[in-house]
Amino acid sequence: MKNLKVDVTDLKKNFGDNHVLKGIDFKVAQNEVVVLIGPSGSGKSTLLRCLNRLEDPTSGKVIIDGNDISDSKTNIDHARENIGMVFQHFNLFNNLTVGQNVELAPVELGKMSKEEAVKMAKELLDTVGLDDKYEAMPQSLSGGQKQRVAIARALAMNPDIMLFDEPTSALDPEMVGDVLEVMKDLAKKGMTMVVVTHEMGFAKEVADRVVFMADGKVMEEGSPEEVFDNPQNERTKTFLEKVI
Ligand code: ADP
Ligand code: MG
Repeated sequence: MKNLKVDVTDLKKNFGDNHVLKGIDFKVAQNEVVVLIGPSGSGKSTLLRCLNRLEDPTSGKVIIDGNDISDSKTNIDHARENIGMVFQHFNLFNNLTVGQNVELAPVELGKMSKEEAVKMAKELLDTVGLDDKYEAMPQSLSGGQKQRVAIARALAMNPDIMLFDEPTSALDPEMVGDVLEVMKDLAKKGMTMVVVTHEMGFAKEVADRVVFMADGKVMEEGSPEEVFDNPQNERTKTFLEKVI
């Protein structure tokens, strides 16, 4: 695989006696969309969180864009600027307007002037279908709208890679489609993405590769057709029977 954006080798993560990641190899190429699936508790969130060192690996290597994230000498703040993350719960700043939420990080970090940030925020809000919400406060928005603001906010740092951890799981069903549309558009534009989701329709349509995890291990991976239509591993089969 050329131009590896994510290069994880033999990653292990323990929480005390709980061996949550048991030697994960996980690669993502530039412009690739990888959907990560698996039962609750299998370690999907922990793996994502190790990619930007929200969790410290117990052992193994995590290399993002050539930077060794697992090395304590690496400037993690700098590395994180290129990794956008969107969580299940949007974590917007409720005391700031939608526009200010999007503008905050690039201005605080000296990436752009306030004027540039305003222009950028308006453009990003337009791309997520919320150009009329620039002045709005987060609490006036629906869950789906909040999540689209969270995506715009992550994009404001112009990241090279976007990590999504169950971005639609907390949404009312009628809100899910709009958020998935925004993610599809991002994928079409060539964003490198790792998406943990239970939306198998999205995975089939958008993923270049599907990775199935269980018990802290990658059990199976392949194209959506391979994994969904012809799963090889018994655990994959059982899981897919439950979710599809
Ligand atoms: P998934 O996202 O696949 O549902 P997680 O990565 O959230 O799985 O969790 C995997 C396991 O790790 C679970 O047993 C969970 O309790 C444990 N775990 C996750 N985060 C922590 C933490 N900060 N402290 C202790 N245990 C944790
Ligand atoms: Mg999780």
